[in-house]
Amino acid sequence: MTIALRAQPAPPLAASETRPVAVQALSVEKGYANGTQALRPVDLEIAEGEFVTLLGPSGCGKSTLLKMVAGLIEPSDGRLLLWRKPGTRLCETGKSLSYVFQEATLMPWHSVRKNVRLPLEMDGVPRAEADRRVQIALERVGLERFADALPRELSGGMQMRVSIARGLVVEPQLLLMDEPFGALDEITRNHLDSDLLTLWQRHAWTVMFVTHSIHEAVFLSQRVIVMAARPGRVVADIHIDEPYPRTAEFRLSARFSEYAMALHQHLVDASSEEPL
Ligand code: ADP
Repeated sequence: MTIALRAQPAPPLAASETRPVAVQALSVEKGYANGTQALRPVDLEIAEGEFVTLLGPSGCGKSTLLKMVAGLIEPSDGRLLLWRKPGTRLCETGKSLSYVFQEATLMPWHSVRKNVRLPLEMDGVPRAEADRRVQIALERVGLERFADALPRELSGGMQMRVSIARGLVVEPQLLLMDEPFGALDEITRNHLDSDLLTLWQRHAWTVMFVTHSIHEAVFLSQRVIVMAARPGRVVADIHIDEPYPRTAEFRLSARFSEYAMALHQHLVDASSEEPL
């Protein structure tokens, strides 16, 4: 069985499916002040509702690209548009985004409820409305019974769920996730990957997910953007043309292995082009 993998950037889904373009990078590049060229010019379109993963080794610019989409850092050149507007004007589109970090970064002295409520407090959302939304967010990640617990009373996987609930509580249309499960054991990570897909299918968010795990990328994504380091760049844009829901059987299937091998080959080919 052969899988049609595209080594060249895939045609934008948005064009063929008439879905709005949620994220658009136009020759976006990033050089840091210390002279590091973190990212060569990237052109990328992500349609609304797509689940797209940035895959590549450490230092290939995955976090840099995600942080630029989030508006946490500025591109050195090029333009980043969210729903056709500059990222800084996202509020004009009526959309919002959330950024979930690798570490749960919870306030240890606050309860789960208070941690999840923080973004709403910062936005000045009235308390009753905030509590209602916190309850919904905790239910989404299956933690409603732990609302009064302190972070240290939870496992690492549960703490990550709290972090995700904190990202969801603002009801974002764009979810940016920077290796959110990278610090967890493989079984917990697999569970959280499945739970994330369930939530994504239900809510149709646009997701940009960062990982250096080939298997996680294949399991989760509709599209995998393969990146290489020194300098950071995009080397392939691969469609994972498999239906959802994706189950444990998919992980064990021949197609899963073929996708994984193809992605692996892209990473190997790209690393062999790196300067010594
Ligand atoms: P990844 O997320 O793929 O591991 P990063 O985006 O974190 O990669 O980093 C890309 C490159 O940019 C690396 O060489 C890294 O050392 C460098 N880099 C990241 N952040 C900074 C910074 N604030 N200042 C200077 N160099 C940085």
